[in-house]
Amino acid sequence: MTHSRCVWLLIIINLAGKLAAILVVWSAPAAALAFWFGPDALLAYHLFVPQAQGLVRMHRRFATSRREVWLTIDDGPDPEDTPRILELLAEHGAHATFFVIGQNVALHPGIIRAVAAAGHEVAHHTHTHPLAFFWCAPPARVGRELDAGLEALRAAGVHPTRFRPPAGIKNLWLAAALRARGLTCVGWSARGLERRRGDAEAVAGRATRGLAPGAILLLHEGPRVPGPIRVEAIRRVLERLHDQGYQCAVPGPDQLVA
Ligand SMILES: [Zn+2]
Repeated sequence: MTHSRCVWLLIIINLAGKLAAILVVWSAPAAALAFWFGPDALLAYHLFVPQAQGLVRMHRRFATSRREVWLTIDDGPDPEDTPRILELLAEHGAHATFFVIGQNVALHPGIIRAVAAAGHEVAHHTHTHPLAFFWCAPPARVGRELDAGLEALRAAGVHPTRFRPPAGIKNLWLAAALRARGLTCVGWSARGLERRRGDAEAVAGRATRGLAPGAILLLHEGPRVPGPIRVEAIRRVLERLHDQGYQCAVPGPDQLVA
């Protein structure tokens, strides 16, 4: 099923559930509750659970015959963290993808040029990182998030082909909006969850859990990351990967799988 069909199917199921609930509310109140909230739960699953693939295909692995993984770093660029991360990547001969926020790009276009000049990929992570309302943003708002971010990136000399929504949260209109702009949606197979309990070592442990060739690792940079973990977690991830004989590479478009 195409993603646009899935979107309409979810909407129809939801509306039909509401109608059925109204029809049976006096005769069977328990069934009415199930009709009313059941489709909402299904929709919520596809919007908020990162593994759900119904609304947007979000790639979570890549195909490779080598011992390599894809390191992805979200929420930059950051004037303190990004230059230090670039140094670490250079020390390890690693290549990574930076999923950046358009507003930050507009403030620090020089950092974006340095990231690209060092051979890393720069990708789209919305313009304002609208974590709270991205799931319910109307089509025009989703389009503005994408276009404003694209404009900021193009002004810094970058033409991205990949996108990651904030925290992997999807939206009913996202698949069509990405397709119209030639953007592919990228998820992850493991993430550091920097704001959860634990130090840099715990974050590195989570990001490298179940490590296997073709894994997509998600880490963050910038002020949202707790101070002692900033950059340090990425340093430890790179050390773990080195110790286990993994290289960090950016896969080509034909390597991406579900
Ligand atoms: Zn983010």
